Amino acid sequence: MAPALGLYGGTFDPVHFGHLRLATEMREAFRLERVVFLPAGHPWQRERDTYAAGAHRVRMLELAIAGEPAFAVDDREVRREGPSYTVDTLGEYRREHGPERPLVFLCGTDAFARIETWHRWEALLDLAHFAVAVRADDTAWQSKGPGAVPKALWPRVTMSLKDLLAKPAGHVMTFAMTPLAISSTAIRSLARISSSIRYLTPDPVVDFIHQHQLYGSPA
Ligand code: ATP
Repeated sequence: MAPALGLYGGTFDPVHFGHLRLATEMREAFRLERVVFLPAGHPWQRERDTYAAGAHRVRMLELAIAGEPAFAVDDREVRREGPSYTVDTLGEYRREHGPERPLVFLCGTDAFARIETWHRWEALLDLAHFAVAVRADDTAWQSKGPGAVPKALWPRVTMSLKDLLAKPAGHVMTFAMTPLAISSTAIRSLARISSSIRYLTPDPVVDFIHQHQLYGSPA
């Protein structure tokens, strides 16, 4: 069977070390050949649009992963007209990689706990596995534990990596990553008040944010 492929969706507004550690640790834990970052186009669930334009978020991701051959950025959702649905992207990947290849969608606990609100969410598990990183700043998860996983998905949860990698899709597995309570929201807030954002995201991303005066940061 072909090695598993990791697909990591998010707004990445901007990308930060929490995202990069998640991708790094998940790649090793799930033996993923590659992790493809998939920045969202128009996040249909959010009332607002993203803060930085799609092209800027893509560029920041490219700067952040430069020199890491196991990571790639795919801007298909940013280029897509209209709302960006994960189910459509996973459907495209499934068609491109065939019915056998394990596809593993990476996300944090906060995103996964809301999966029932995603467009055509029942179809998602037919297309990919879900590897869910326990997020350090997710207080709802800290109090509820795995009970935060939607009940309909409990039969999908496995603790066996072997079982998961033996199938192309259909399982959910949680993973305790190094706790890093970094968020894009916090970076945007710091940039807005001209506080330092260094050491929360790679230096080339810090420089890019300043050069382009993103998030209200001064030049
Ligand atoms: P925002 O603060 O704007 O909501 P964010 O920091 O949560 O952004 P996203 O781009 O929305 O970043 O996150 C993409 C995915 O990465 C989500 O599944 C989210 O749960 C996960 N994630 C983000 N930051 C972390 C972190 N520090 N630790 C673990 N998972 C994270």
